[in-house]
Amino acid sequence: MEYTDAPAQTQFETSTDTMQCPYCGATLPRDAQACTQCDWTRDQTETAEGKASDAVAVMLSVIPGLGHIYKGHRLIGALIMFIGTPMAIAIAAITFTFTAGFGGLLLPLWWFGVMFHVWGIDDRIAPNVRDEGEQY
Ligand SMILES: [Zn+2]
Repeated sequence: MEYTDAPAQTQFETSTDTMQCPYCGATLPRDAQACTQCDWTRDQTETAEGKASDAVAVMLSVIPGLGHIYKGHRLIGALIMFIGTPMAIAIAAITFTFTAGFGGLLLPLWWFGVMFHVWGIDDRIAPNVRDEGEQY
């Protein structure tokens, strides 16, 4: 007995580099955004639990707007970064003096709102998803 505990996954040849289409089983690059053989797209199967890019986008939102830009929403990201955040800081600073500090709570709320939003919006960096058959 020389191969007692050979790993069981040897039959999956290179499971780290490729994945199988959940619809038709075609072999695709691991980070494929859509199937080349059928109309499966990553959005349809993974939106429920959040993609890896969602987590990255939320982390990037430490600088509000950066996460949106990362997801391909450049206009919204720029608005948040150059208008929304300065306004939020200004409002928080102004109200801070009038509300004995409560205005400062606006900033964490703003940050949280931006992160929450960037988690929920669609990922636009997928290259060829939008052409054929939008389903929503
Ligand atoms: Zn497929």
